[in-house]
Amino acid sequence: MKKENNTLAVVVPCYNEEEVLRETTKQLTTVLADLIKEELISENSFILYSNDGSKDKTWEIISELHKSNNFICGVNLSNNVGHQNALVAGMEVAVKYADMIVTIDADLQDDINAVKKMVKAYLEGFDIVYGVRANRRSDTLFKKNTASLFYKAMSLLGSKTVYNHADFRLMSGRAVKAFLQYPEKNLFIRGIVPIIGFKTTNVFYDRYERMAGETKYPFAKMVNFAIDGITSFSVKPLRIIFGVGFLFLFLTIIAAVYTLVQYFAGNVVSGWSSMILSLWFIGSIAIMSLGIIGEYIGKIYLEVKNRPRYIIESILEQRNKFNNENVKN
Ligand code: UDP
Ligand code: MG
Repeated sequence: MKKENNTLAVVVPCYNEEEVLRETTKQLTTVLADLIKEELISENSFILYSNDGSKDKTWEIISELHKSNNFICGVNLSNNVGHQNALVAGMEVAVKYADMIVTIDADLQDDINAVKKMVKAYLEGFDIVYGVRANRRSDTLFKKNTASLFYKAMSLLGSKTVYNHADFRLMSGRAVKAFLQYPEKNLFIRGIVPIIGFKTTNVFYDRYERMAGETKYPFAKMVNFAIDGITSFSVKPLRIIFGVGFLFLFLTIIAAVYTLVQYFAGNVVSGWSSMILSLWFIGSIAIMSLGIIGEYIGKIYLEVKNRPRYIIESILEQRNKFNNENVKN
């Protein structure tokens, strides 16, 4: 039985990507062919598109590419489950046949030339290689600022994310298997990967503009993603509530002393404005706190239900290569 340990899988989540898939395939194919020629990866290496319930012709295109291009395989998910879950679906299928997995977005905003550096780092013994953006020139001012705010908030709240790293990374088979042991449904992959350990390094690259189509992360989705990222990883907001409550207790004592003094001085009718003000203020704090608690309860609710993260409708295997002989253990 032939067993190599340098089979690469490139896992690409795709949601309504009909406009970019052909070009993406062309470019990734070149990268893989070059790496094979240089004997850095094995001939069994493949590209796995994880179709996240696209509503356009994405799956048709993947099926067509699968027929003409020996590198292409696909996983078709039964519904749209989101970028993160689509990635997990792809990784879970790919890890059976690959020794290392690179995840990259379908729009190829991330520099595919970094893949070679990642593979080299893997061959040197690194289990996790993060693709880190060297700059954010291609971002709008708005995205730049919100992104930097996000990373700062994340680290302030105790989540260990890699600065300016999204989901462009290489993971060894064993790192992927370790990652798959994290069963949480509120998935924030780039928060989990840094806590699984192993030997880790960074590769720097430039990020480009989306080559076609439009972003699948509009503002509302971005905000949701950020909130998930924080509340899935940190209980600090809960502690902050406790701290705020404690502070207010202290302020209440001062307020009580003040009120009593006023009472004995006979000034009780005045003070209406301060009362109304504090009523609003405390009311808002209470509601905000409930909101944060609600966020966590919502998370618990989702975890307790223990629903599957995705459902695979069909798989397009790599011809002649996805067979028992090539299954990695
Ligand atoms: N994506 C997905 N499911 C979704 C949304 C996005 O699989 O529900 C994929 C999308 O096809 C792309 C990647 O996630 O490959 C990142 O999306 P996009 O490039 O639109 O995000 P941006 O780069 O604008 O943040
Ligand atoms: Mg993009």
